Amino acid sequence: MPRPSFPKTIFEFHQWFPNEESCLKFLIQSRWPDGFVCPRCGNNDYYWISTRKLLRCKKCSYDASVTAGTVMHRSKMPLKLWFYAAYLVTTHTPGMSALQFQRQVGLSSYQTAFTMLHKLRAGMVRSGRDRISGTVEIDETYVGGERPGPTGRGALGKVIVAGAVDTRGKYANRVRLQVIPDVSGKTLTSFVKNNVIEGSVVKTDDWRGYSGLESAGYRHIVSPDLIHIHRVFSNMKTWLLGTHHGVSKQHLQAYLNEYTYRFNRRKTPMAGFQTVLGLAKERLGPTYKGLYGVAKGRKAWIHPTNPVERIISELTR
Ligand SMILES: [Zn+2]
Repeated sequence: MPRPSFPKTIFEFHQWFPNEESCLKFLIQSRWPDGFVCPRCGNNDYYWISTRKLLRCKKCSYDASVTAGTVMHRSKMPLKLWFYAAYLVTTHTPGMSALQFQRQVGLSSYQTAFTMLHKLRAGMVRSGRDRISGTVEIDETYVGGERPGPTGRGALGKVIVAGAVDTRGKYANRVRLQVIPDVSGKTLTSFVKNNVIEGSVVKTDDWRGYSGLESAGYRHIVSPDLIHIHRVFSNMKTWLLGTHHGVSKQHLQAYLNEYTYRFNRRKTPMAGFQTVLGLAKERLGPTYKGLYGVAKGRKAWIHPTNPVERIISELTR
């Protein structure tokens, strides 16, 4: 059997997922599209223990969790709520604030809504995602200073965001956005190296921080008009303010990830349904404590980027 498709309309969603059992079946089919194989003994027969969301091997009694590696693992929330959140997050074009989501599904806790959305956002970044190529516009911009997030934590000071977008003729194709600590040559060159394939044509303004790109293996063009990346920056800022009413510096990278995800999949948004649930591959999401543990001396959740980018984002927190 092929991996299941994704619901394309809200009508389809409710038809496909009327209850918990239908969600469980969908999970099983997504995890084992060719039928269950026991990871311990290779046997194909199982008992379905739906109350514990697991399949027990009939031969060796191994318990295979249906939600392991997904954002739903160890969550007390119903699967249907997760599925609905994933549907809303992927199809609602501008995305959704935690407050909107909380109201839509009638959650009593803002924290729960906030954490669920962040977990789904974590699913929006593929680790080791590929680099863009061709003709690429690069620039950096300052974000923030407008107003604090909904919980009043950490009003956003100015944060620097580097951006890259490859173009296909008149059109922007794919975008990469990254919080960076400064606009030095070292930082900007490493941003380009992490996101753009060597040999590409890179267009930037005449800032000296970009002067090392030629020797880093790129065909560097200083251009007075960088319309595509400027449009990306402008739309991204409108989106941050309009949908999320500004965000804290600590979580900016997560929202940049979400924006990137939406931008790069703008033609088929619902195709991300399985991806954000974490069904595509193993992925762990943050806990609320992890997201806001810094103040209490805990190790904070770091919004996923690639390893070098992660170091940079750690420096900026
Ligand atoms: Zn077995």
